[in-house]
Amino acid sequence: MNQPTPVPEQVDAVVVGAGFSGLYMLYRLRELGLSAKVLEAADDVGGTWYWNRYPGARCDIPTTDYTFSFDPELEKEWTWSEKYATQPEILDYLRLVADRHGLRSDIEFSATVTSARWDEQEERWRITTGRGEQIRCRYYIMATGCLSVPKSPDIEGAGRFAGPVYFTSRWPHEGVDFTGQRVAVIGTGSSGIQSIPLIARQASQLTVFQRTANFSVPAHNGPAPADRLKLLDEDRAGYRHAARWSRGGIPVEPTDVLGVAASEEVRRERFEAAWAQGELFSILNIFADQGVNPASNDIVAEMIREKIRSVVTDPATAEALCPKNHYFGTKRPCLDTGYFETYNLPHVRLVDLREQPIVSITEDGIETAEESFGFDAIVYATGFDAMTGALVAADVTGRDGLSLTEKWAAGPSTYLGLMTAGFPNFFMLTGPGSPSVLSNMAVSIEQHVDWVAGCLKDMRDQGLETIEPTELAEAGWNQHVQDCAAITLHPTANSWYMGANVPGKPLVFLPYIGGVDAYRQACDDVVEQDYLGLQLAGPGGDRCRDGVIRRMQPDVAMVLAFMATLDLPAMETLSAADARGLLAATAADRPPGPEVGEVTDGVIPGPAGDLPYRLYRPAGPPMGPRPLVVYFHGGGWVLGDLDSDDPLCRELCERSGALILSVNYRHAPEDRFPAAALDAFAAVQWADANAVGLGGIPGQLAVAGWSAGANVAAVACQLARDAGGPRISGQLLICPVVDSDLTPPSYQENGDGYILTTALMRWFWDYYADPSDRGDPRAAPLRGDLHGLPPAGIVTADFDPLRDEGVAYARALEAAGVPVRLTRARGHTHTSVTMVGVVISGAPVRAEMGQALRTFFPSAEPQELVS
Ligand code: NAP
Repeated sequence: MNQPTPVPEQVDAVVVGAGFSGLYMLYRLRELGLSAKVLEAADDVGGTWYWNRYPGARCDIPTTDYTFSFDPELEKEWTWSEKYATQPEILDYLRLVADRHGLRSDIEFSATVTSARWDEQEERWRITTGRGEQIRCRYYIMATGCLSVPKSPDIEGAGRFAGPVYFTSRWPHEGVDFTGQRVAVIGTGSSGIQSIPLIARQASQLTVFQRTANFSVPAHNGPAPADRLKLLDEDRAGYRHAARWSRGGIPVEPTDVLGVAASEEVRRERFEAAWAQGELFSILNIFADQGVNPASNDIVAEMIREKIRSVVTDPATAEALCPKNHYFGTKRPCLDTGYFETYNLPHVRLVDLREQPIVSITEDGIETAEESFGFDAIVYATGFDAMTGALVAADVTGRDGLSLTEKWAAGPSTYLGLMTAGFPNFFMLTGPGSPSVLSNMAVSIEQHVDWVAGCLKDMRDQGLETIEPTELAEAGWNQHVQDCAAITLHPTANSWYMGANVPGKPLVFLPYIGGVDAYRQACDDVVEQDYLGLQLAGPGGDRCRDGVIRRMQPDVAMVLAFMATLDLPAMETLSAADARGLLAATAADRPPGPEVGEVTDGVIPGPAGDLPYRLYRPAGPPMGPRPLVVYFHGGGWVLGDLDSDDPLCRELCERSGALILSVNYRHAPEDRFPAAALDAFAAVQWADANAVGLGGIPGQLAVAGWSAGANVAAVACQLARDAGGPRISGQLLICPVVDSDLTPPSYQENGDGYILTTALMRWFWDYYADPSDRGDPRAAPLRGDLHGLPPAGIVTADFDPLRDEGVAYARALEAAGVPVRLTRARGHTHTSVTMVGVVISGAPVRAEMGQALRTFFPSAEPQELVS
């Protein structure tokens, strides 16, 4: 007789995992009145704190912060015993949370999910467990943790060892007694660094196999920090609020001290204070620029190396323990208790795998390129398939039979790290593309759970049943995640943040590094903007407001936010003299730009008097003549001078390998149209005539300029063509003013809030040219004849009122047969592309500028690009 097909269980939501995030998710789902089931592979709650029971396992975020905040009564009832709690204590805490809220009744333990399929017709997920159970649910929520799937040992002969093998991430519940044993530990990440000192206490011989030396800071464990406890006692709610809106999920004021600018005394003082504090967020906050500037990072890294050398007595071992292959912070730094001191014990030895790689694990030990080691036990502390491992392992199939594994073959793609297109009603808690592992997980977990719960409530209230990101919104978020990473040193490291620890895993920066605060704001903004970028459907009607939540480069946004705090007067409300003073004042503290070979100042004769110039010569060979670029500064024909654009000129010089001759021109309102244009043309004529004396190559002359400087550069090209010379090889026009029409869409979109405003442009034009002159091609070169002009490199910025006229000039030049290289500065403003040393995301755009200049001089000797 056929068995009747079991009727699948139905719940509103299935949650996978009963760690911090799964427990809180269940609590919130119940609060909403939704039926929910949590599937947990272990036989108890705890998640990462259930599995990682190795000796020394502790959290490395202070317990004042590594704790739930959703239950104020629990906060009163529970007191952590130490600054950094042990694994058993954290597990006890999570058990208490489960029991306090009666969560266990909706958790099925020892239940693994073998597959999850989206049923298009029913609009339900069909979940299958290892026991063959079927569960149907509307919402499928992965609370599987970021570091839950251990990396399988990728070492030759790993299965051959005859003795006991232990994984820090799957430690036996009954513990392990290494007394009298010869033990090998492979791996020196957080798990290795925490367990090695304790294993050394028991083992008769301990050999640590280190592939990459790691930065570690003493935890100084003990009672919870008194200053934090005091703050909590005084205003717990305020403290938690501050944590939620902090950069890392702990209320720490981000420093504005730059490592490269600080005195030796300040550097030392800040470092020692952070070292004494023994907290990750302090050591990562010594200098504002340590995460982005190699020179600043080196200062911190070297001070840590000094500490290691001062502790480890054997100089060769100390040197091997000093991290030198990655920037500090680009691999997860560790907190330790007596880690480096352990290497001073006579029975502990470090084997540097960069000196002698492992050839194979053998039946009785480990063989390296130089030695054979015999062991009684091997401990793998080799890490995890981080952030994506647990998600793709769960065999998730969305719309049209697309599996998550297939979709993410080239790396994860998510919207806000919470959802992914093609997988309706599928949520990931602390998924890739969210701050997660770069933050205090407790705060990030609560934020994600709260967001999901809020979303489900809104859907229910509005009669909506499915939700899914659009491709556009998701691609925009992925871009933003990568943009944030790209301005840091992180992508340079072979870290698990990059997926580099798992052979064959795509190299993509996985978490969101823009900050917990910025991230929370983005999530809130999505909701505020009617669930921007999400398609929602149900009896309440289908709807989708498509769009990208963060289009601006993160450092550009930071500069704008900083400028807003300065509360500067709008330029157009000032006199020309005061506006010039303001520009000079704001430029005073900026980084100087790259070193160049030589800088000389001089004057050239202009049509109405001398024009000051500054000549930049690139560093290094060849010492002979170079192509020459005449550059004109920006400033709306009213402001600016040789100093205002000095850092940009230096960078153009280094990137192009050409001489840059930056020339001042007469300014309005003292000298109105066409004075600036005529001066520019005169400067080009003079430069051509004097090229040899300047160190230039005769006939290799180009022009360049930014903003109004690009205007006069473009005009100079038209005047030179009309005058039959000089011959100009190319024109680099950076965010050029080429027309006097203030109505294109880019003026509507970007006319306010991005420094160059419509009001300011109007002010510039009013000073520069009478309305009757504004159609003259010498004021608005877009209106001139564009045939026979030199090849152009044109840069436009997304958030620039002038964007559309730059594009229009490129199109018009092309139509006139002029070769054009159009570069879109994605996510930039009119000014941000020029902010050398401040706006790091502008570096690739400036590299493009340098490249454009190089193409103008094809016969010039190739130069090494300085990036
Ligand atoms: P991990 O940081 O990835 O460290 C793994 C170590 O194993 C690295 O030293 C790695 O070297 C080495 N390794 C991997 N494969 C190897 C191979 N085939 N041959 C030789 N060496 C190999 O892993 P983890 O220590 O388990 O820590 C992972 C993360 O979990 C931490 O970064 C942290 O976020 C979290 N965690 C936190 C705590 C805490 O809160 N206190 C404790 C433990 C872990 P390479 O560096 O060369 O790849």
